[in-house]
Amino acid sequence: MRCPKCHEFLYVKEYARNLNVCPKCGHHGRVPAGERVAMLLDPDSFAEIDGHLRPTDPLGFACNDKKYAERLEEAHRSSGLAEAVLCGTGTIHSHAVVLAVLDFSFLGASMGSVVGEKVTRAIERAAEEGKPFVAISASGGARMHEGILSLMQMAKTANALAKLGSHGILFISILTDPTTGGVMASFASLGDIVIGEPGATVGFAGARVIEQVTRQKLPGGFQTSEFALEHGMLDLVVPRKQLRDTLGLLLSLYSGA
Ligand SMILES: [Zn+2]
Repeated sequence: MRCPKCHEFLYVKEYARNLNVCPKCGHHGRVPAGERVAMLLDPDSFAEIDGHLRPTDPLGFACNDKKYAERLEEAHRSSGLAEAVLCGTGTIHSHAVVLAVLDFSFLGASMGSVVGEKVTRAIERAAEEGKPFVAISASGGARMHEGILSLMQMAKTANALAKLGSHGILFISILTDPTTGGVMASFASLGDIVIGEPGATVGFAGARVIEQVTRQKLPGGFQTSEFALEHGMLDLVVPRKQLRDTLGLLLSLYSGA
């Protein structure tokens, strides 16, 4: 394969062993939700929750002569997933957590009713069981095919997090490339601790859109994790190799407190 950033040829197995990070330039590639769970959780500790929830087509939506229902079926076939988020319980360095992992390969990990519902249920479970909530986001934003029902999920997830916060329970939000739109503007940016992966695009609207609308040139590195860290929007930028140990440390500090 070729690295999408430095265009060097890489051995697929070497790339996978390196957690989908280019060994030549350090570019952090995308990671399917199942692989992400394996990278972060203790072996065999993951138990999926709400895996039975399936999206529907409440608006009978079609775009460019393609029905939403057909797009869902295609996304299901190509990704092997029922929806764009995988939720469950598990442990990290023996600390119990509730986890939500978005998968960009399913319709750009856009947030429709089911993604919002699964994330909300995961947060509610964290509140009920007194376990920290960890979200690993990647998203193009709210899912246009479900219109206002998608936008409602922003308020719903944010409301569930407010309740989690009122219980004094920790929420760690991890932003991976790209985390944008309605997901960034709701639960993903509401972490008690917000961590970005190196070089990830994080922000609301894309840089090109902002330049077109404002007719202003944006500064270099705009909407990367590093830029967001420098401007106080992130707490940490952590390379993927150190992410599991960093989470373990934060969870042990939290449990000690
Ligand atoms: Zn590279």
